[in-house]
Amino acid sequence: MYVVALTGGIGSGKTTIANHFHALGVEIVDADLVARQVVEPGTPALAAIAEHFGPAIIAADGSLDRRALRERIFCQPEDKAWLNALLHPLIREEMIRQCAATRSPYCLLVVPLLVENHLTGLGNRVLVIDVDEAVQIERTCRRDEVNASQVRAILASQASRAERLAAADDVIRNQDQTPEALQREILRLHEAYLRFATQQAHSQ
Ligand code: ADP
Repeated sequence: MYVVALTGGIGSGKTTIANHFHALGVEIVDADLVARQVVEPGTPALAAIAEHFGPAIIAADGSLDRRALRERIFCQPEDKAWLNALLHPLIREEMIRQCAATRSPYCLLVVPLLVENHLTGLGNRVLVIDVDEAVQIERTCRRDEVNASQVRAILASQASRAERLAAADDVIRNQDQTPEALQREILRLHEAYLRFATQQAHSQ
């Protein structure tokens, strides 16, 4: 399977642009979704979390109480490390499994923290969605009804634009261009990815 790993900072437009590729028939694997799936009720990971943090971490409906978990790991760095050591390998394996199960000529693996979590190797190619920080802040504030300092704190916890761009094979600049130009850019990349996927299939 030919995998294009898509990443970008908060509010850069990952979801918006992934939707454009999806409209062209490209199947999407979403790391955020996978992160929730690996701790669904009945999973070994959820049982391990309940054992480690106590039953109060499970909501009345049997699902993980994410808010309670966030609060616990916020003030306990060693608990955060424990949780990451449990979940990161599971999330990685499940992303690989879901990519392998896709049927489109190539798939798009959307991973917000691709660079931060050293996951660039999961893609045959890395596509970075890039906007200025001021645009990230403005769009995130509008989308999530949060204030600029909250978004700045998230930006500070993520890779810098320069770090992300250094990992990129392709970049979509998601500002200062018309919707038509953006659509053309997406189509151009889509056609290139179709070619690369075909080349890879023939070389095997
Ligand atoms: P991400 O998934 O990277 O956090 P989103 O795709 O949710 O980002 O985009 C953040 C916000 O910016 C959304 O409200 C989206 O509708 C808006 N947005 C995305 N791309 C553009 C664009 N080119 N012009 C204006 N607004 C945009």
